[in-house]
Amino acid sequence: MNTNMDDIFLPLKNKPVLIAGPCSAESREQLVQTAHALAGIPQLYAFRAGLWKPRTRPGNFEGVGEQGLDWLMEVKEKTGLRLAVEIAVPAHAEICLKAGIDIVWIGARTVVSPFIVDEIANALQGSSICVMIKNPINPDLKLWIGGVERMKKAGIKKLIVVHRGFDAYSKKPFRNTPLWEIPIEMKRLFPELPMLCDPSHIGGSRSLLAEIAQKSMDLGMNGLMIESHIDPDHALTDVAQQISPAGLKKLISGLKIREHEGSETSSTLEDYRCSIDEVDEQLLELLSRRMEISELIGEHKKEHNLAPFQAKRWSVILEDRIKRGSSLKLDKEFISGIYNLIHKESLRRQGNVMNEE
Ligand code: PEP
Ligand code: MN
Repeated sequence: MNTNMDDIFLPLKNKPVLIAGPCSAESREQLVQTAHALAGIPQLYAFRAGLWKPRTRPGNFEGVGEQGLDWLMEVKEKTGLRLAVEIAVPAHAEICLKAGIDIVWIGARTVVSPFIVDEIANALQGSSICVMIKNPINPDLKLWIGGVERMKKAGIKKLIVVHRGFDAYSKKPFRNTPLWEIPIEMKRLFPELPMLCDPSHIGGSRSLLAEIAQKSMDLGMNGLMIESHIDPDHALTDVAQQISPAGLKKLISGLKIREHEGSETSSTLEDYRCSIDEVDEQLLELLSRRMEISELIGEHKKEHNLAPFQAKRWSVILEDRIKRGSSLKLDKEFISGIYNLIHKESLRRQGNVMNEE
């Protein structure tokens, strides 16, 4: 099936593609029913299912393992869909190669370990299988690049990268923060590699999928990998983020696909806007953290019978921030204005603490 390079890459060059299927293979019926229900989506490029599930703690459902391969083969026979499976150790790679799986992916928890990625690359060496490399859990672009380089070194030619968001201290509203500037930089470094977005693992909840998918399309990504389950509410893994095939159809038909080829300016503008959104998100998080600390200070002052406003401390802060701001090429008036607002809000918060009885 995957002998001709273009067979697998051609659809990725034309319009955004979709890889969909359940987080985990659970039963033959679940796979066959989900695949049949998805098969009508024109953009569907491959059917995904996890056979071996990396779980944060042992004891949860860890996948059906090798027995799920027969069910997947039945799906392929009945629908003609390409199959995509996660591999996390060399043995998985060998099993998938032997079974004729079209696409394997290396998950976010695996990409963080260069030793394992090396071992998997060795197991795949010389094969013509298509390999997708997810970004590592932590926001480390170099690890992601390392995953790609290790596969290239092993002679893997059909490579796709998948953006699935990053673990972060403050995640809300996402399960994994998108940090769009990282996939943007990855795309800049490897423009020849198709990039898919995985809104399921970024969002962690059904309600966020459409917005994330649209954003990735606006950034010119080549497609989406979305978890879809015939009965999402009873899924054995990632229950909150899986979507029904009907819901997925609706989501895909609601996407606006804008022209990217030849419209260099607008895609550059989009990249800048994304970076601004990202920086603003960090700014807001920092401001919120600052106000939390102010409240703690307020409590302390209340306990020690100190007034919220301490003139000496405030003038030290203001002078210092204006100086620091200047060294970062920030206008004095601007910094002074911002700090006056921040200080006013801090006092208000501290005052609220003081007024509590
Ligand atoms: C998955 O796609 O099912 C998966 C486990 O993803 P990730 O490695 O991104 O967590
Ligand atoms: Mn999942």
